[in-house]
Amino acid sequence: MVHIALHVVVPLLVALAFYRGRWRSATGIMIATMIVDVDHVLADPIYDPNRCSLGFHPLHTAPAIVIYAALFVLPPVVGRATDRPDARLAAGRLHLVGLGLLIHMALDGIDCVL
Ligand SMILES: [Zn+2]
Repeated sequence: MVHIALHVVVPLLVALAFYRGRWRSATGIMIATMIVDVDHVLADPIYDPNRCSLGFHPLHTAPAIVIYAALFVLPPVVGRATDRPDARLAAGRLHLVGLGLLIHMALDGIDCVL
């Protein structure tokens, strides 16, 4: 239960610390990335409290995490290179999706070392 609460509290704290001007939408986008746990339906059992998700579920593997890191890093670079407000908005959202996914992986990783 603490684990699930962290998936809400940590994005909220990150949004308040680094995205204060848009903390509500930033929090919402980052929490929405919990949908990445949809890959658990491929596992049997779907939920095992003693299982390390990282490296086990397809969307929790190293190649996926590299993509999440790219989502975090690249959109701000692209966003700065354009004057189009819609492109800047989309870049900002993609950046937060990447950040939310990286936070998710980090929090899941805690279960792997405890
Ligand atoms: Zn997960």
